[in-house]
Formats: sequence, C-alpha cells, structure tokens
Amino acid sequence: MRSATRLDILGTEQAYVVLAAARQVEAAGHRVVHLEIGEPDMPTPPHVVEAGVRALRDGLTRYALAAGVPELRDAIARSLAARGVRASAENVIVTPGAKPMLFCAALALVETGDEVLTPDPGFPIYESVVRFAGGRPVYYPLDETRGFAPDVDAIAARITPRTRALILNVPHNPTGGVAALDDLARLAALAERHDLWVISDEVYGRIRYDGRYDSIAALPGLAERTVIVDGFSKTYSMTGWRLGYGVMPAWLAAPMTTLVINNVSCTATFVQYAGLAALTGPQEPVTRMVSGLRAKRDLLVNGLNAIDGVACDTPSGAFYAFPDVRGVLERAGLTCETFAERLLAEHHTAVLAGTAFGPGGAGHLRLCFATERAEIELALERLRNGVTGLVTAGAR
Ligand code: PLP
Repeated sequence: MRSATRLDILGTEQAYVVLAAARQVEAAGHRVVHLEIGEPDMPTPPHVVEAGVRALRDGLTRYALAAGVPELRDAIARSLAARGVRASAENVIVTPGAKPMLFCAALALVETGDEVLTPDPGFPIYESVVRFAGGRPVYYPLDETRGFAPDVDAIAARITPRTRALILNVPHNPTGGVAALDDLARLAALAERHDLWVISDEVYGRIRYDGRYDSIAALPGLAERTVIVDGFSKTYSMTGWRLGYGVMPAWLAAPMTTLVINNVSCTATFVQYAGLAALTGPQEPVTRMVSGLRAKRDLLVNGLNAIDGVACDTPSGAFYAFPDVRGVLERAGLTCETFAERLLAEHHTAVLAGTAFGPGGAGHLRLCFATERAEIELALERLRNGVTGLVTAGAR
C-alpha cells in the first residue's frame, strides 16, 4: 500500500520535531527549557472559558453554519475597524484555526504553476500549502537592517507575469518584524499594478510593542484583493481551542464556504461562542499579556546581546527573538542547525534553527519568549555556558 504522491509535497513545522526531541531529553531525566513552540503561556481568560462551558451546557453541541456562527462573524467584522478595515459578516469565514484558512486560501487562489511571493525566513506552512495547491513559492527577503521589514524592492524585482499572490505576515514569525505604513503602501501599489492577491497573515496583529495595528487591507482598493488570515490562538491564548478566520471579498466567501464544507463542515459551535466572548468581552487580558511580553522581550534581547558573538534586534511584534549567532557559529565551526541540536542535547535548551523557516534564516536562532521570566533567565544562563563551551571546543 502507499499514500498518494501529493503528500510528498507537504512540508512541516520544525517546532514539532524539536518538541518531540525535547520530550526525549526530558524522558532521560533532564530539565529542559522550552523556547521552541510558539504559543503564549498565559491561560485562556476565565470569562472565555466560562462562555465555552456555558455554550456546552446550553446544548450548543450541534453543527454550526459552515461559514460560522452569525454572531461571531458579525463580531469579527466589527472588530476589524480597529485595524482600519471595513467589513461585514458576509466577508468573514470562520475556521478551526488560522492554519486551515491559510490552506483554504492557497487552494482557493493559486492555480497550477502560479508564483506566490513568500517571505524567507517565514512560517514554513506558507511554502508547503502553496506547493500543495500546485503553485511555486518565490522567496523574498526581509530587510534585517530595518528590523526585518519586508524588502519591497526585492519583492518588486521578483514579480513576473506568473506571479499570482503575495504572502505578508506582519508582525512576522520568526523575526518579530513589522512593516512601516510606507512599506505597506508600496506593497499595495505593487499588488494593484500587477493584479496580485495579498494573503495577509495577521495572527500576531495585536501583539505589537509600538502600539500600531496595521493591515494592508485598510489601504484604498486593497480589501478587494486581500484575504486576511487571523485567529484567536495567539491574541487570546486559545491555541488548543482551534479558532481562526479569513476576511475576504464577499464573492469569494461563497466558494470558500464550499471548500470548508468539503473539509471540516464547520468549526466547533461552543468554541465559536467562546471566541465571541473573547472578542466582545474585556480586552484587559490582551493588554496585560502584551505588556508582560514586552518585559520578557527586553530581558531576553538584552541578555542575548550581552553574549559575545550574538546580535539581536528588538522585535516590534509577536513573541520571538531572532538573534544573529554567526559570530558564535564561525568560532565554533557549527551551522545554526548543529548549534540548536547541541544546545538541546548538551544544555537542555530547546530553540529552533533559523533555517527551520527557510534558507534566509541561516546564521540565526528563533527563541520564543512567551514563557516565565525564570525560564528566560535559565535559558540565558545555559546559552552563555553553551556558547563558551562550544567556542572553546571549536577553537581547540
Ligand atoms: N500563522 C503564523 C505566522 C503562525 O505563527 C501560526 C502559528 O504558529 C499560525 C498562522 C497558525 O495559527 P492557528 O493556531 O490559529 O492555526
């Protein structure tokens, strides 16, 4: 027996591979510091949990409408005003997480042979779903000198008659980079000039340390060619609930709903009511989480920059630091992959190699700082020891 060859095209997320390796190190009796998986460590806000439980007790345990519970679609549409996007419920499709919406968007928009501009480094699922849909990912770089903003000139240079879509992720995984409004305006102009779709992954949209909350879809004419992908996982600490959505032109919502019907039928009904409580209830847990994350970011970034051979930008959003560790790698004779492997095996600290996000991540590590301060302090201590040990061994 064998599976269909199309499965060979799918990529994966290295974070899960490293998590499994870290669990083995734990099974051998070691205390591992986990900075590999990208999820907030704060619990789901209690009023959200209550709303989910109440919905279950109220018998909301049956199929929902495929496109989502109308009240939730409406609340999502209204919430978009905060990022300058005007939408109504008919523009919104609810899915079990942002990831299924990325999958649906690729299947709905990409034809065989189409080129899709994809960030490198970037969330590995972009490349995977574009290929799965028959498209060809065309990597574009980020500008490290400008906090990993998308490099608009490099994007423009990669557009060909086959280019169909641009994938944007602001704030960005794995770098925490954002785009200036001017960058977004230039990208919007490119999308209009070359008739491109924009798939705008905004899952970290509310986790920004500069107070902004931008969406390219807010720019004139862009809502007609943009699918916003967003969800509740990161903002409301709801990774395990599985709740996300897409915002798109109303005409596209109908075929997208058919795709959802063929795939998941609908998103769990009670989960949607929990999401409704998250969106319409107090937003203080989000504000508190973001200010806590800011302090953790500063602790980690300052600690990293104090290590010889490590240079780390201060991320403007998301909860990842993406230090340049080339100074260490050169002296120790390692790649970022072997460095990450040795940090786990010898120093029991789980981080991701930058190349887990594409070749453009070479020379870097990704560290998630959405964890306890004590864990970050322990990770820094282990990194300092690890770097000293590896560099000394490499120099021998
Ligand atoms: N997009 C990006 C950039 C992410 O980092 C993640 C999760 O790590 C997702 C999408 C998926 O989020 P969800 O849990 O809503 O599927």
